[in-house]
Formats: sequence, structure tokens, C-alpha cells
Amino acid sequence: MRRIIYKLLFRAVLVLSVQQAWAKPLVIAHRGASGYLPEHTLEAAILAFAQGADFIEQDLVLSKDGVPVVLHDIHLESVTDVEQVFPDRHRPDGRFYALDFTLAELQQLHKHERTDSDNNQVFPSRYQGLSPFRIATFEQHIELIQQLNRQFNKQVGLYPEIKSPAWHRQQGVDISKIVLKVLRKHQLDSADSMVFIQCFDFAETKRIRNELGAKVKLIQLLADNSWHESSSDYDYLQSSPGLAEIAKVAQGIGPWVPQLFDLDKMQPTPLAANAKQNALLIHPYTFRVDELPPAMGADELLTILFDKVEVDGIFTDFTDVAVNYLYQKRLHEKDLHQQAQ
Ligand code: CA
Repeated sequence: MRRIIYKLLFRAVLVLSVQQAWAKPLVIAHRGASGYLPEHTLEAAILAFAQGADFIEQDLVLSKDGVPVVLHDIHLESVTDVEQVFPDRHRPDGRFYALDFTLAELQQLHKHERTDSDNNQVFPSRYQGLSPFRIATFEQHIELIQQLNRQFNKQVGLYPEIKSPAWHRQQGVDISKIVLKVLRKHQLDSADSMVFIQCFDFAETKRIRNELGAKVKLIQLLADNSWHESSSDYDYLQSSPGLAEIAKVAQGIGPWVPQLFDLDKMQPTPLAANAKQNALLIHPYTFRVDELPPAMGADELLTILFDKVEVDGIFTDFTDVAVNYLYQKRLHEKDLHQQAQ
């Protein structure tokens, strides 16, 4: 009898610890360890892996030869030296589009820290060197993360974003179809794979699930309507009926921090509670120690997100800071637990 009780007890503890492991909020490396190295490079992914990220993000656009490459924008000039290498290859609007260059051409470019229209670094204190970082493909990132997972016995996941799907289709290419094909080639299009696909365009999220038959977990990103990010109505998507509609095709939402927490009133908005009612995961963007809300410290913002709003994960340029915060929090909770016994 006693043995059976012990056995049941052991199983209960095991189940609980597995549940806790899954319940742990996720640290999603936003464009890799982009707080330290040029965004979306393989080097930034390696650093994010070493810093303990649970997932590493890849924003995806297509090359001229239809290869998904890891870039945040459809334009190249704010993160590469394209103007020096291919000075004549801009469109009439003066912009250089990744889609106008073959993969071989894209991989000739040097990638640098993000700059603004005056050529100043957007985040001045970040990486200032001139080493020749390169644009990498989605498959190169998949291979890198899979190899590191194998060697370090870890399960770090992929978090690809389909960028500007409507624009890509206007140009005659179907980026979602191509990205899904890559995931399927690597046996990653399943509900239990360590992959989330994210997209701002709700019509595309529905299409990925319903028309393209994706099995992988999906996250609907939420923008502000004033940003003109897509034709989706983000006011509607944040409402209860909007969230219920999202829940039919996606596993979670990726809101902007101020959509979850009113920084003037210093209290949560109704969004998190409404999302949870629809069993949607909440993965807000973007925690940056060099771009915090006015008069707020990094720890204060993390406490708001993890303890007040109780998000399921965060996108961050500073994986190390978020991982360390969660580690200290767990140590503290363990201490309290032991004192109570
Ligand atoms: Ca993104």
C-alpha cells in the first residue's frame, strides 16, 4: 500500500515538474541577441543560444530566386552596405529591395548595426565594429540551431515571422507557401514542434492555417492601426470577438507592451484577461534595456510583464537580462517556499 502511495506521489511530482517546466515563461531572442550583435546574423543567433534563449526569432523575406532569408525589412539599406556594392540596383523610389537580389548577391553584402536615414546607429551604444557579418538564409539558421541543440542537448526553438505577405504576393511570390515548404522539409510543421510562426497580417494567419494547412503553432501579432503594418484592423483583433476569432486559427497573440499595460495609469489593460479567456498565449514585444518606458527600470518592466500581466513569454533584444531575471525570481520563490516549510 505504502509503495503504491509513494509511486503515485512520485508520479504527481513528476507531472507537476514537467508542467512547471512548460509553464515557465519563454525568453524569445528578438532578431537573435540583437542588443549585442547586428540583428539576425548567425553570430547573433549563436550568442542568443549561449545566453539561454528558449526560442530564437527569424524575420523572413524572399530573395529574387525565392529563398527565405533572415531580414527584418523588405528593404536592405538600413542594415547592409547595398548602396556601395550595387549602387544602381534601387527601384524608382530610391529603395533597395531584397526581392531584387539573388541569394548569391545578398550574401555578398556586409551586414551592420541598424542605422536611420541619416546613417546614425539607431541604438548608439550597441555593436560599433565593422566586421563582415552576412545575411543568412532561414535554412542556415535552422541548421545552426539544430546542430547546437544536438551538441548541447537542448531544445531551443525557432520563431519565424512571415514579413509583408500581401506585398510579396503583389510582387508575384507566395512567401508563406515557401516558408512552410522549408519547415516541412525539416519535419517541423507539427503542433508539437518547437516552432511558432508569427504574422501581423490576420488574413494571412487564417490562410496559413486553413488554406495552406499548417499544423505548426501560430501567433497573431498585434500592431497599432496607425502604423499601417497590414490591412488587419488591430482595434477589432484586440476586442473579445476579435480574440475569439484569432483563437480559431492561432495559439497566441504577440501584442506591443503598451497594449497590455497602460503606462499612464500603471495598470493592466483588459487585453491579457480577454486573451486568457480565449486560451491564447501572450508573447509581447519588445523588452529592450536601452529603450525602456520613461522613468522605468528594466527589472520594473519585467516584474510588470511576468507578475502583473502574467505573460507566457517575451520578445527581447537582451536575452541575458530576461533569463537572469527569471533565474533570480525562481531562486527567490524557492527560498520563500523553503522558509514556509
Ligand atoms: Ca519580428
